[in-house]
Amino acid sequence: MNKQIMYKSTRGNERLVTASEAILKGLSEDGGLFVPESIPTLDKSMQELSQMDYKKVAYEVMKLLLTDFTEEELKTCIERAYDDKFDTEVIAPLVEAEGAYYLELFHGSTIAFKDMALSILPHLMITSAKKNHIENEIVILTATSGDTGKAALAGFADVEGTRIIVFYPKNGVSPIQEKQMVTQKGDNTLVVGIYGNFDDAQTGVKQIFSDKELEKELLSRGFQFSSANSINIGRLVPQICYYVYAYATLLKEGKIADGEKINVVVPTGNFGNILAAFYAKNMGLPIAKLICASNDNKVLYDFFETGVYDRNREFILTTSPSMDILISSNLERLIYRIAGNDAGVNADMMKALSAEGKYEISAEMKNALADFYGNYATEEETAAEIKRIYESCGYVLDTHTAVASAVYGKYAKQTKDDTKTVIASTASPFKFTRSVMNAIDGKYDAMEDFALVDELSKIGNVKVPRAIEEIRTAPVVHDVQCEVCEMKEVVKNFL
Ligand SMILES: *Cc1c(COP(=O)(O)O)cnc(C)c1O
Repeated sequence: MNKQIMYKSTRGNERLVTASEAILKGLSEDGGLFVPESIPTLDKSMQELSQMDYKKVAYEVMKLLLTDFTEEELKTCIERAYDDKFDTEVIAPLVEAEGAYYLELFHGSTIAFKDMALSILPHLMITSAKKNHIENEIVILTATSGDTGKAALAGFADVEGTRIIVFYPKNGVSPIQEKQMVTQKGDNTLVVGIYGNFDDAQTGVKQIFSDKELEKELLSRGFQFSSANSINIGRLVPQICYYVYAYATLLKEGKIADGEKINVVVPTGNFGNILAAFYAKNMGLPIAKLICASNDNKVLYDFFETGVYDRNREFILTTSPSMDILISSNLERLIYRIAGNDAGVNADMMKALSAEGKYEISAEMKNALADFYGNYATEEETAAEIKRIYESCGYVLDTHTAVASAVYGKYAKQTKDDTKTVIASTASPFKFTRSVMNAIDGKYDAMEDFALVDELSKIGNVKVPRAIEEIRTAPVVHDVQCEVCEMKEVVKNFL
């Protein structure tokens, strides 16, 4: 029997909840995020894990954190998630290029790493509802910087007992990202472009979540909210699995010795993906450095440098839009942890963040961040990295992965550290075709979007993914826009 893991809020609400309750709620009542009371240790050796396929590894990780799910429930969720929605049985392949290992997390139905968690979240959510005898319809409210939205829509479309509403920044996503979302089928789906940026969308959603009156009104009509954003531990836990799987793969292929430490580089926005790597490390996975890569919105780089988190700055639209974020929600889980699991300290900082847009951590807390390294890549550096890797080995990176790759280059140059390194490859280049092709050669700028897709397929020698083929001719079915202040009304009207 595994140790029972309960969850509690990062902001002081002392009530412990089970994993399934935490998944259903998404966010704690006090506005905090749910964190496991303690982080369990992997109970299978790396040798054993290296003999397992993705689904088995996922089970070994998730069983330790989602302890109120039965073995059968968890295995059923895993089976339903990691099936032929993925275009490879390996689920998360490792590709060696230029001395690093790119962990391709984009083989799911919407070709970004969000599929890794969002293909299983709906199953975890309905199972959680059943376990807790919930009869209300679950309404998933999601703010997206582009990739979460489509992945959540794909996951929840036509899932009985659920509805999903997605808000995205009208002018802050790539054309292909937008087309993917507005063509989404399913009677239970709603997609809304807001006149604002991702942080506005995320703040708006958080406000709707904490609106007690609205909650009461909807409850009386048989609805309750939950979240598909990475603040939900049902997103975070499945993301831990692929770091363990990547390590196991390297071991199986003889690229590392058992116990040898690796570095992990993560292109970061909301801090969910890298936090999963941090949890993996705490579960005993031999990770040395956690390298946090940012684009020009380099709040996190500044934070790791100075210990001051300051969102008071210009919001920059970049070619890696899924990282255009100034409030990295999941950082709160790390702050809580480096404060020695002190919810009071964390709550004060989060209060300062919402009142003044900034906070500073203590010297002691900063010392606890020694395993992290932060840096960023400018737009020019990102484009140059795409071109460099393509020209040296024919491998085409997407813009987000290129940010990580460029930051890894800076890290290696600065530190001379030659530890084997896994770079999280978070999206297919087909999702950001124009930026990727422009980086390779300016001449492509004249071509229209889908012609570019075919050209990318040719020069990169990869088949056009199903996700892109699907939207070539799909009709637009969502054409709703609103101001940030109208988000609540839009939600009410849909329900
Ligand atoms: C969401 C996303 C990121 C950022 O991940 P976080 O977990 O929010 O830090 C990076 N790259 C791509 C392609 C994404 O979709």
